[in-house]
Amino acid sequence: MLTTTRLTMFTILLAAGIADAQTATAVKSSTRAHVELLASGKLEGRLAGSPGEKLAAEYLVKELQRMGAKPLPGQADYRLPFSFTAGSKDAGSTITVQREGAPARTFDTREQVMALSYSDNGEVSGPVVFAGYGLVVPPNQNFSYDSYQGLDVKDKVVVVLRYFPEDADMQTRAAVARYSDLRYKAQAARQRGAKALVVITGPRSPNAGNTVPMTFDTALAGSGLVAASANGDVARAVFAAVPDKSLEAVQKEMDSGNPHVAGFAVPGLTLTVKANVARERQTGHNVAGYFPASLTATGVDKPWVVIGAHYDHLGRGTTGSSLASKEQAGQVHHGADDNASGTSAVLAIADALSKQPRKRNLMVAFWSAEELGLIGSNHFVTTPPVPTTEMAAYLNFDMVGRSSDNKLTVQATGSSPMWPRMLEQANVAAGFDLILQEDPYQPTDVSSFNQAGVASLAFFTGAHVDYHKPTDTAERINYEDLDRIAEFATGITRRLLDLEQSPQFTKVEQKTEGGGRAGMRIFTGTIPDYATEVKGLLLGGVIGGGPAEQAGLQKGDVIVEIAAQSIANIYDYTYALELLKIGQPAKVVYMRNGERRETQLTPAARK
Ligand SMILES: [Zn+2]
Repeated sequence: MLTTTRLTMFTILLAAGIADAQTATAVKSSTRAHVELLASGKLEGRLAGSPGEKLAAEYLVKELQRMGAKPLPGQADYRLPFSFTAGSKDAGSTITVQREGAPARTFDTREQVMALSYSDNGEVSGPVVFAGYGLVVPPNQNFSYDSYQGLDVKDKVVVVLRYFPEDADMQTRAAVARYSDLRYKAQAARQRGAKALVVITGPRSPNAGNTVPMTFDTALAGSGLVAASANGDVARAVFAAVPDKSLEAVQKEMDSGNPHVAGFAVPGLTLTVKANVARERQTGHNVAGYFPASLTATGVDKPWVVIGAHYDHLGRGTTGSSLASKEQAGQVHHGADDNASGTSAVLAIADALSKQPRKRNLMVAFWSAEELGLIGSNHFVTTPPVPTTEMAAYLNFDMVGRSSDNKLTVQATGSSPMWPRMLEQANVAAGFDLILQEDPYQPTDVSSFNQAGVASLAFFTGAHVDYHKPTDTAERINYEDLDRIAEFATGITRRLLDLEQSPQFTKVEQKTEGGGRAGMRIFTGTIPDYATEVKGLLLGGVIGGGPAEQAGLQKGDVIVEIAAQSIANIYDYTYALELLKIGQPAKVVYMRNGERRETQLTPAARK
């Protein structure tokens, strides 16, 4: 039992403790000023390669200098420039249709012909083979589908329909949907020796008769094939050479989904396809510095610990993956959560650790062009200023400013058996409701380091309705929790800096489900909450005016079934999306407050 004096002392100490805690909350946030600056209108949304990106980089360099960080070994500057494809546009593709005994017709407007973004540039001519939907589904036990069966397309120009058979039953749609991505179709044509691929959108499909808009697809440059999409004018000119059949009739046959309906060579017809894709090159800048080990590094196996975050965002949302509404189009996408929050967390961690003794070098890195496909971090790990084999661990921070209900998600924990325990120990003091996810194949820079074989973690507080919209602004950030996350991660970084044996790297097998992108033509207006692991698909929100909102769905609902497909996770959901048809209501079963409900959702077309 305590004596009264000691009890009094204890009470006083306790009171003092509380008082401390109270002043502590009034203490300046370690992250707020950084977020407010980076997300300010002056930086114009920090699009990689833009003046706003350079201003942001300048700020980060100044911060590194202020803290006393050095440029990386062998580097004169903190800025690490890299060049990348900032976009592509059609610079004059044409298709010439030449029927035997008739004058040639050339189609040359952008409404008529549009190269696919990953086409090779060049001009090729050849006889024409129509290969239906151009689908090749690897045979499995109960299904196979090969549009090229019985067709010789070597040195020919292959014409295919976009999408996949419109009238096929659910099972067939399910089997072929993921192979209907134009990338797969181009690959299938090339592997069979075709010279060129021409894609037309059939009269019975969505976007009938239109060309395929050129996507911003940086990773796919150079498919080894001349590939273009063509509109209804071109399609009609081609099918005029087909005896006795209209394009619509041909498509209708294909649309049954019967794998035995074959394509055919088009007699007496030559197509000349000229593809001209102009790719715009730009320079982006990673920013990195380091704090050298201050203690004699006896016993540490790998001398580097890396913490990082991407600092680029979408600019005004004109390229890439903006989710701005029509009214918001062209506005600055502030990217306060994505990813001024992670950038600020890294700055706060670096600040906290800069003066402390350490056995390993602490590298502090800020990536650019993440939003365009992890380009900055990819460039870094493929041409690393420091060998990746010398990196003990990488910690990534992307979207850590919107914590709610004390939740914090840590991803990529499967990359080392050491992570779960280390996180649990560090969390004793921090007290988060931690959600651990093993999968390191995340849509953020942690993927680059995982690919490079570095044990990694990614911190994340979840998607929200402002994701990739101009409304992702600084005043919506939960600074109290952002500071706590930085503090929590500071503790983990400290351990890593002094740990003798670094976390052993484990390769996690990549899930193949959900790889199909055919579902992308469907718009449901749901915003999945990727951070929370529930059975089903938890909605982090719905897009205003979208099909999900119209169906009465709202944030917090858990979709467990859609179109008769049970949904256990995000992969099931993306897979089920491929089975939906635009304009055709689908039954959705969902849980709200523990109650099972049903509604009808009518998917719209994505533009
Ligand atoms: Zn983003």
